[in-house]
Amino acid sequence: MKVNHDFHIHTYLSLCAPDKTGTVENYLESAKKHGLNKLGFANHFWGSEPGDPEYYNNVKMNPNNYYLTQNYDYISQIKPDLEKYKNDEVKLYFGAECEYDPFKKSVAVSKDHVESFDFLIVPNSHTHMMMPKSCYEPYEKHIDFMFDAFYDIINCEFSKYVTAIAHPFWAVAAPYDRRILNRMISDDRYKKAFDAAANKNIAMEINVFELSKENPEDVSSMDEEIRLFRLAKECGCKFTFGSDAHVISEHTNYSNCDKIAEILELTENDIAEIAK
Ligand SMILES: [Zn+2]
Ligand SMILES: [Zn+2]
Repeated sequence: MKVNHDFHIHTYLSLCAPDKTGTVENYLESAKKHGLNKLGFANHFWGSEPGDPEYYNNVKMNPNNYYLTQNYDYISQIKPDLEKYKNDEVKLYFGAECEYDPFKKSVAVSKDHVESFDFLIVPNSHTHMMMPKSCYEPYEKHIDFMFDAFYDIINCEFSKYVTAIAHPFWAVAAPYDRRILNRMISDDRYKKAFDAAANKNIAMEINVFELSKENPEDVSSMDEEIRLFRLAKECGCKFTFGSDAHVISEHTNYSNCDKIAEILELTENDIAEIAK
């Protein structure tokens, strides 16, 4: 199956983008090169009252008040460009990588805005920002945090607006090899979670950020991701693909995702409705 979409693109409106090359115009050009016909823009986003304002305003946990900036008005600045570059070849979508609020046990979006998005992806694994550092060890605590976040996201009041879990169980910026955690998670524990997500029609994102940097023929380092996605597929989860590019250079090898689709033997039927 040829992957024809990317539903995880950051533009320069994500404060963590190292340069300003992540523009709608540049991604559109890249999409055409890769033969994509759907592009979903998902800048980092926090759009609700924080469950714990003290935590949210704590610059140690929330560097540079990152999420104070990434609010609805701020990320909506992309809208004029989505209009300007509208075309028949590649459909453009306004979305967000919306944060998970562990204090509210919910997705950090408000009722006022949730329906303005074409799609939302939500990570259960931004543990570098949203998890107390005391949970890094023992590893079980870190794993439990990701499972709690996963279930909170799929059971919260906004779950029907969640298109996919962004990079599921991929402990971002962990101070040790994040795959140590994945290796400790049993098939059964994964399957219970994926069954629950499949019931809610929430897809799993196949994030190819690392693969896009590595040799596409060498997927040996991705054993744990492959196991996870095989189990998700077995449970009937649908999938979206995402580059997680923050700058245009991170989109150069996006077509490597076809390799993963092949390994997982995915067909059109395994793809989330919006991305088909
Ligand atoms: Zn993320
Ligand atoms: Zn991202």
